[in-house]
Amino acid sequence: MSEEAPATPAGAGQTREDTPASKPKPGAEPGLWLVATPIGNLEDVSQRALTVLASVDRVACEDTRRTGRLLARHGISARLVSYHEHNAARVRPALIRTLTGGGSVALVSDAGTPLISDPGYKLVSEAVSAGIHVTGCPGPSAPLLALILSGLPTDRFYFGGFLPSKAGPRREALATLCSLDATLVFLESPRRLAASLEDIAAILGPRPAAVARELTKLHEEVRRGSLGELAGHYAAAGAPKGEVVIVVGGERGDTAQRALSDADIDARLDRLLAEGTVRDAAAALSAETGLPRRELYTRALARTRAREECAVDP
Ligand code: SAM
Repeated sequence: MSEEAPATPAGAGQTREDTPASKPKPGAEPGLWLVATPIGNLEDVSQRALTVLASVDRVACEDTRRTGRLLARHGISARLVSYHEHNAARVRPALIRTLTGGGSVALVSDAGTPLISDPGYKLVSEAVSAGIHVTGCPGPSAPLLALILSGLPTDRFYFGGFLPSKAGPRREALATLCSLDATLVFLESPRRLAASLEDIAAILGPRPAAVARELTKLHEEVRRGSLGELAGHYAAAGAPKGEVVIVVGGERGDTAQRALSDADIDARLDRLLAEGTVRDAAAALSAETGLPRRELYTRALARTRAREECAVDP
C-alpha cells in the first residue's frame, strides 16, 4: 500500500501517519497549499481541499467574491486575500512573510487547477527558493478533462495554453508544432474558436480533433470530427456560448485515416459526386483530407458504378 499524505492538515502533536479524519483539526500544516477548485459543477471539490481551505491562515484567490461563494456553499469562512495578475508583485511578499513565519497559505484560482494558465508560478517559485513546504490538493482542470473526453490518444500530450489571438503569430506558433508526435491541447475563447480551428487546419493539415465546451456544466458538449469539419461547423454556427478547449490529434502519419470513418468518406464522396465527376470528387476530397487521390478515385468509381447498376435493375 502506498504511503499517504495526511487527509487533513496535521495539528500539534499529530504525525502524518496518525492523523485520523475524524479528530479535531487545530490548524493547517504550515506551508503553501495549491488547491484545485471546480470548473463548473460546484460539487467537484475534494473533501481534503475543503478541509485545507477551512483551516489555513490565508486563502489567496483571484477573485474573492467568486471563491467566497464556493466557500459559503460549503459552510466555510476563511481569510481571503486577493492575488491576481495585476496585484501579484505587491501581494506576494506579504504571503511569503506569512509562510516564512510558519503560517499556512492556500492558493486557488477562479476555477480549476492554479498555475495552469492561471496565476501562481512566481509564488511557488519564491516559496521553493525560501525553503517553504509546497504541497497541493489535486482536482479539476479543464484541459485534462477535455483531453480524456476527446477520444484522441492520451499517451503523450502537449498543453499549448492559449494560442496567440492574432492570426500571424498564431500561425507561427502552430508551425512549431507540426511534427510533434503528441495530442495537442489548447484553451480558446469562443469568439476566436472558428478562426483558430481554421488556422490549425491550415497549418497542421487534416487531423482528428475535438472541441470540449462547458465541461461539468449543464450544457456540456464534446464535438468530435476532423479539423476541417469543426472549423466549418463553428464558422457556420457562430461563436458558441461558454468556455472551450480544443484538442487536436498529433502528427502520427495516419491521422487523416483515423479522422474519417469509411462511412464518412463514402458520404462525402456521394455529396461531391452529385455535383461533379469522379475525378473532381476524388481530387476535392484528397485536397481536403490528405487521403491518397488514387484510392479515393477507385472508391468514387465503385460507388458510381454501383449506383448505375441499381438504377438499371428493375
Ligand atoms: N486553471 C484552469 C484549469 O485548470 O482548468 C484553466 C484556467 S484558464 C484561465 C480558463 C480557460 O480554461 C477557459 O478560457 C477555457 O478555455 C478553459 N475552461 C475553463 N473551464 C472550462 C469548462 N468548464 N469547459 C471548457 N473549458 C473550460
